[in-house]
Amino acid sequence: MSNFKCGYVALIGKPNVGKSTLLNTILGEKISIVSEKPQTTRNRIIGIKNLPESQIIFVDTPGIHKPKNKLGEFMVKQSYEAMEMVDLIFLMVEPEKPAEAELVIINKLKKFKKPVVLVINKIDSVSKQSLLPLIDQYKDLFNFKEIIPISALKKDGIDRLIESVNLYLPQSPKLYPDDMLTDQAERFMVAELIREKIMKNTQQEIPYAVAVDIERWEETEKLISIGANIYVEREGQKIIIIGKKGERLKKIATEARLDIERFLGIKVFLEVWVKVRKKWRQRDMLLKSLGY
Ligand code: GDP
Ligand code: MG
Repeated sequence: MSNFKCGYVALIGKPNVGKSTLLNTILGEKISIVSEKPQTTRNRIIGIKNLPESQIIFVDTPGIHKPKNKLGEFMVKQSYEAMEMVDLIFLMVEPEKPAEAELVIINKLKKFKKPVVLVINKIDSVSKQSLLPLIDQYKDLFNFKEIIPISALKKDGIDRLIESVNLYLPQSPKLYPDDMLTDQAERFMVAELIREKIMKNTQQEIPYAVAVDIERWEETEKLISIGANIYVEREGQKIIIIGKKGERLKKIATEARLDIERFLGIKVFLEVWVKVRKKWRQRDMLLKSLGY
């Protein structure tokens, strides 16, 4: 079995602690970070780091950044559910004594039961002596897996940070192609989740070559409305996927929707259509959705 690792890391912390700077440092110049969209509570993929033996997917979880906002129970719950998908949490802080905002976030983290690494950024701006008492104070607040001082700006401590990530990622093949752009990653994953449910519900009857194309993607605060086309090569395959009275397709769509909701951390309205189209390939769908 391959030792390749792949998983999700949530990067959380107050505005201005250096999250974007850290991502730029880790991801390098080739990948430009998606500009900040209006805040919703769902997870958003903000960068994918491809290493020889691992793929690290960084997600943003805005719900926890703003613990005091007045969004309703629904939104808070969604945000918590979204946290369930990550393998590791980076809590990024300034090299200062923990204050109210940090305490609130740490209290929330206790509920997730996920491994958390504390990343103390901007250590270039303080003396080494001031770090030790700080580390002790944070140790008293939470059972961090590790406390790693870094300077995202001066690229100090980054290797150690990456090493610690690798400890917590599960063994898994790559979830995204190497050349995936971060703002396409969610749609790609949604298409993959639908494809997976088709495979699961049709067993050997349908060849592996089924393509899913995300045709519609509309976001509101509370919901994402997604329309997907399932492409097959022959009429017979279409009939199998749809099933008697459309029952199989309904099951596929329901199972896919539940997984997609878990993945995106928000309610999803999903519509799927099965269409016959010869000589399509998943790769072509991807290129099309990327605008080629
Ligand atoms: P974000 O809001 O968490 O994404 O923070 P940014 O990455 O936008 O950084 C906020 C400010 O902190 C910027 O002016 C950065 O240049 C600065 N900054 C980020 N990392 C470091 C660091 O390691 N050392 C110092 N001195 N400044 C940093
Ligand atoms: Mg930022």
